[in-house]
Amino acid sequence: MTGENISSIAAALVVGGGIGGMAAAISLAERGVRVDLIDLDPDWRVYGAGITITGPTLRAYKRLGLLDAIKAAGAITSKTRLFRFDGTHILDLDEPVIEEGLPATGGIMRPTLHRIMQTRVRELPIDVRLGLTVTTLENRDDGVEVTFSDDTTGRYDLVVGADSVASTVRAIAFPHMAPAVPTGQGCWRISIRKPPGLEMGEFFLGHANPCGITACAPDMVYMWMLTAHEERETFMDEEELFVTLKAHLADFGGNAGWIRDNMTRADWINYRPLAAALQPADWFNGRIVLLGDAVHATTPHLASGAGMAVESGIVLAEELARTGDVTAALRAYQNRRFDRCRDVIETSVAVGKLQLEHGDPKVHAHMLEGALGRLNAPF
Ligand SMILES: Cc1cc2nc3c(=O)[nH]c(=O)nc-3n(C[C@H](O)[C@H](O)[C@H](O)COP(=O)(O)OP(=O)(O)OC[C@H]3O[C@@H](n4cnc5c(N)ncnc54)[C@H](O)[C@@H]3O)c2cc1C
Repeated sequence: MTGENISSIAAALVVGGGIGGMAAAISLAERGVRVDLIDLDPDWRVYGAGITITGPTLRAYKRLGLLDAIKAAGAITSKTRLFRFDGTHILDLDEPVIEEGLPATGGIMRPTLHRIMQTRVRELPIDVRLGLTVTTLENRDDGVEVTFSDDTTGRYDLVVGADSVASTVRAIAFPHMAPAVPTGQGCWRISIRKPPGLEMGEFFLGHANPCGITACAPDMVYMWMLTAHEERETFMDEEELFVTLKAHLADFGGNAGWIRDNMTRADWINYRPLAAALQPADWFNGRIVLLGDAVHATTPHLASGAGMAVESGIVLAEELARTGDVTAALRAYQNRRFDRCRDVIETSVAVGKLQLEHGDPKVHAHMLEGALGRLNAPF
């Protein structure tokens, strides 16, 4: 169900063809807008990690009409198993079903999720141009003049900046905003074949470096681990990533230990320092608007950054369909999104801080449970 058509916007430019940009492009095109979608990456790829898709994220994908494809290609579950880091089972948590017919939670490989979203983009009147960004954006009374990095130009009724945490659109058009702030933690991820016997998501607690495993396909999982970030001059090469992650897993039992003992140099491994920012309002300047990590970048503690980006894409189109007054629609979009995104970012950053300070795991659990419960409310 997509609701009313958008009467005020004939043509929109979406900068950034990631999760939020594709959600916005799909939502706008389904409401009658002609969309140009550009991405800096000439091959429109995404890296090989898995991603956790919580109940609210699944609900947002249902609104995009992509739930069945995600269910078919990903992994869906109704419980999460908690273990002590040494593999001792603590308890199984029932994940709530937040809407009838919706799975409770799940996971999917990012390239698979991108393929599903890209397929929907290609079905709609969306012109995709790759290897391209914007170099200038000039607001006019009723539109935006755009210069692209290949020196071509265009004029649009709306420009959506969905170009992630180091957003070029934000740098050009939002001087009151600043880069995301490092939180002091880093996230390790490995994509690997499923450990035998893994039936649901798993969390390993009680260690300075918490970790978890999410099933992403019948035969694949990804494991994440959070560690204190140590500044260094150079990036780790593949060998260092492999050896260091294996060492970080030395104390772990259960399936985390199985991954340590069975990981190979062919498995995809990544380490990334974490940063977050809730950018100050306004999230729009004239006819230019931001969404996703460009304006509400979070850390992965609630596994909700992608869900927030998809919701923002949907809400933007819904508000533009609700009124022909573009400024009123962009303000309504901002108002609907601001506190929800603030909750995710503030809770995620606070949990990360507690982890760095070796705070009480019961306090972490309470904060996570509270925020996840609030996210179940309609967006
Ligand atoms: C370690 C880690 C783990 C995470 N795990 C989860 C999870 O389990 N669940 C979850 O919901 N979220 C998770 N997230 C968050 C989630 O990945 C992001 O919130 C989400 O991808 C944001 O979507 P986006 O569209 O804003 O940006 P992206 O998905 O990053 O897409 C941005 C796109 O813009 C393009 N681009 C960049 N710059 C330009 C430019 N100048 N011009 C044109 N195009 C450009 C890029 O090529 C890319 O295609 C995690 C994040 C991290 C860091």
